[in-house]
Amino acid sequence: MERPDLTAAIVQDAESGGVLMLAWMDEEALRRTRETGEAWFWSRSRRELWHKGATSGNTLAVEELREDCDGDAILLRVRAAGPTCHTGSSSCFAPWLWRRIKEREQKRPEGSYVVSLLDDPRLAARKVGEEGLEAALAGTSESDERLVEEIADLWFHSYALLAARGLDPALVEDELRRRI
Ligand SMILES: [Zn+2]
Repeated sequence: MERPDLTAAIVQDAESGGVLMLAWMDEEALRRTRETGEAWFWSRSRRELWHKGATSGNTLAVEELREDCDGDAILLRVRAAGPTCHTGSSSCFAPWLWRRIKEREQKRPEGSYVVSLLDDPRLAARKVGEEGLEAALAGTSESDERLVEEIADLWFHSYALLAARGLDPALVEDELRRRI
């Protein structure tokens, strides 16, 4: 099949306004999206029409479809039935660390430390406590290098704790935005 004329589709969460993914639409994908109310795209890698969520169940219910000023991009405002990204993350643009953690959660590699944290929120919580203390000590009396290491440990375990509790860091961002 020839590659059809493609339009970039920016997928945005209708509720939070967060950008979930970028995909491509041809005329047929656009027609089916309008008809069914669920997002269809053109997969450039598989070179075929793609009903998002047809196999995973993670469909995108389209609340609003907007074309941009000169017709070369489309904004889809959606309600997502599950994670949008193939990594299991709610967004393809989620922080790199979060996508890595969600990937481990999906693939569950043998002996993975991340998986052991995800399976045991109490362990993840305890590690956050330890790493918080170590970060604080490094911040008062150790080198810059040590502080960076300890903050890395703290952020990593904080993300793991959120994942273990089934929460998304976007919630933390929302909370911060409400405060600042
Ligand atoms: Zn993705």
